[in-house]
Amino acid sequence: MQRKPLLIGSLRYKDYRYSSNHPLRIPRVSLLLELLWALGLLEGKELLESRFASWEELLLFHTEDYIKALEDVDRCKCVNRHVRETFNIGTYENPISPAMWKGSLLATGSSLQAVDMFFEGYLTFNPAGGMHHAYPSKANGFCFINDPGIALKHLLNKGFKRILYIDLDAHHCDGVQDFFYEDDRVFVISLHQSPDYAFPFKRGFFEERGSGKGKGYNLNIPLPKGVNDREYLYVLEGVLPAVKDIYNPEVYVLQLGTDVLREDYLSKFELSNWGFLRSFEFIRDLLGDGIYLGGGGYHPVALARAWTLIWCSLSGRDITQRLNPEAQRVLMNVDFEEFEDELDRSYMYQTLVDQPNYGEIRPEIRELLKKIRAEL
Ligand SMILES: [Zn+2]
Repeated sequence: MQRKPLLIGSLRYKDYRYSSNHPLRIPRVSLLLELLWALGLLEGKELLESRFASWEELLLFHTEDYIKALEDVDRCKCVNRHVRETFNIGTYENPISPAMWKGSLLATGSSLQAVDMFFEGYLTFNPAGGMHHAYPSKANGFCFINDPGIALKHLLNKGFKRILYIDLDAHHCDGVQDFFYEDDRVFVISLHQSPDYAFPFKRGFFEERGSGKGKGYNLNIPLPKGVNDREYLYVLEGVLPAVKDIYNPEVYVLQLGTDVLREDYLSKFELSNWGFLRSFEFIRDLLGDGIYLGGGGYHPVALARAWTLIWCSLSGRDITQRLNPEAQRVLMNVDFEEFEDELDRSYMYQTLVDQPNYGEIRPEIRELLKKIRAEL
């Protein structure tokens, strides 16, 4: 089936930003839209305006008292100690801001739109989605509402029994993993920075293979610092075909956090956006069309370029390498402080695809793949 590409987004995210000094304060979806428009890569009929999730939809994953707390805190813009400690909201990590409630509702509604429109014959991408850290009754890791978890529950409600969730974000998807840990109907696979050195620290180890009925249906691939394109693809290509053979998924959801990119200052991977794109294409070649969500990513320019490549790929467009003056203007105008300003990042404002970071495969990566393959 030739699906029609559909981006689910909105400029309203500009009104629902995180509080100042938060890593997610940056423009993300709106910047992606502006870059796509500047490059002439997004037609009117290819964009679906995001909708809010309903209360009932939130309860597919979250507890009622937690959702009520989020709504109350949003209404009064205040939080008492009891609520802060119970639900982990109103902290530095998960601050009170328009992103907490309205922004999360919009991102979550969009992930549900992505699922529903997929079954209407569209190839859907919700770049605001992928907030994989939130727990049923607790905010976690900048995430308040677990839209991938809700999307997966929505797929279960549609009757699917073998759903594959693939998470490429640089951080382990603890909220999603734990929710489906005893469920064999959702296979969770995640490639991420090892919890030995990265958030969420307590989850994401290889030994977490699921339990009860879910035993064997969870696969964590914790990776060392400095992973390059070749290593990342080596692991992905070494593992995913085996998972496909074992599980034979009916449908898959792919989380595309861009914090795997080397420009991202919150994580330690060294992927180029070429490697990121190749990873996406490998998965799509292997598994066919899926439902695509965004994820982490804290360098707005790197993020917008990488998701532009994803959009070009899924909408069947050729990739323009040189950025035109209008696109350059969009990226230069981003209000963002470059943290690693000793590095030359000028290429990001001139071209779209990076030079591959196609280094050596380190022995520890080869050992890791051997260990995983032996377990599968
Ligand atoms: Zn992340």
